[in-house]
Amino acid sequence: MKIEAAIARDAESAYSIEPCELTGPAADEILVEVHACGICHTDSTVKTGGLPVKYPVVLGHEGAGIVLEVGQRVTHVSPGDHVVMSFGNCGTCSSCDSGEPAYCDQFPILNLVALNPDADPTHSQNGEVIHGRFFAQSSFATHAISKASNTVRIDPEIPFHLAAPLGCGIQTGAGAVLNVLKPEAHNTIAVFGAGAVGLSALMAAKIINCREIIAIDINADRLEKASELGATMTINAAEVDDVFKLLLGKFPKLIDFVFESTGSPKVAETAFKCIGRRGVGAYVSAPPLGTGFNVDINNLVGMGRTLRGVVEGDSNPSQFIPQLIDYYKRGMLPLDQIVKTFPFQKINEAMDSAKTGEVIKPVLLMK
Ligand code: NAD
Repeated sequence: MKIEAAIARDAESAYSIEPCELTGPAADEILVEVHACGICHTDSTVKTGGLPVKYPVVLGHEGAGIVLEVGQRVTHVSPGDHVVMSFGNCGTCSSCDSGEPAYCDQFPILNLVALNPDADPTHSQNGEVIHGRFFAQSSFATHAISKASNTVRIDPEIPFHLAAPLGCGIQTGAGAVLNVLKPEAHNTIAVFGAGAVGLSALMAAKIINCREIIAIDINADRLEKASELGATMTINAAEVDDVFKLLLGKFPKLIDFVFESTGSPKVAETAFKCIGRRGVGAYVSAPPLGTGFNVDINNLVGMGRTLRGVVEGDSNPSQFIPQLIDYYKRGMLPLDQIVKTFPFQKINEAMDSAKTGEVIKPVLLMK
């Protein structure tokens, strides 16, 4: 069928919305009419060549919409269902088998590289292949082909523009706290980076009602939003000489749980230093390949600290996304506070708004 898709042709040029051809769904695939798609920092890192992808490509990995058609092996959704598309996973490796699809052996290929080695290409234009399996969806488009394994049926009461970012950014931040760190009310937590992912971590810490929730960023507006969402303390790192010393002064035992989402090696190092004895640091950012930071081994060992990388909040989307929707409906996850919508045609403006930090979670509306 003919669809409209935002095509990224190289690292530099703007997205261009163009007609292209989309295949029908294979046996384990679903054709989704995309109504909304969130923009995640990872889209920009991939687009600008920081993570490997082949051009031309249709990016977008926080899609939500209505099922139009299902392949013959798909049983959990039907045409007319409202769905969120999340990350791709193979469904057969040991991680998938043990209910940890975020650590699927094929995660990089099926998601970041936008390839499914076992399937035909989905998108083309005048006979030229357009890479179209980004996060098993490529949702910067009016329609997407997703897999049964990454398509989650959702409560139709939740608007698409709020459901869409649950598929990646929000489940990453909230899941790192609720599924991985699992703080209790007496614990302290510091969130480095108050973007969509960090603020989702913060909202989750607020659900637990952690004793101290500290947000650190260099964007004053985002820190103000962090306070509104439940931060008990905010630090503007652009105005402070040494965030570690400041925190040490206020919390001599340092912080029980640390969440790092800035992608900055310097911040990652500071965050590590802030972890208290037997505390845990969750690291979620996805900076360009090869980015690293220094860890003093004796400070890791002697303090009994744990450093934990987290993909997609350790989430099993078919269970966790409905749980997050339930929190939203009960007023416990006010994600509407961080979302701003843009018409699909304004994709480049929406991208810029995320890059400048003006908008926390831009969401494109296709309908
Ligand atoms: P974002 O750009 O909205 O947020 C990053 C925040 O870090 C911004 O608010 C920025 O002002 C702040 N920041 C930058 N430099 C800083 C500094 N020196 N000190 C303090 N704060 C600083 O991005 P996001 O959408 O929230 O995503 C965050 C990261 O998570 C990205 O790297 C993204 O690629 C990654 N991500 C990972 C997963 C995963 O599964 N692990 C999923 C989604 C996103």
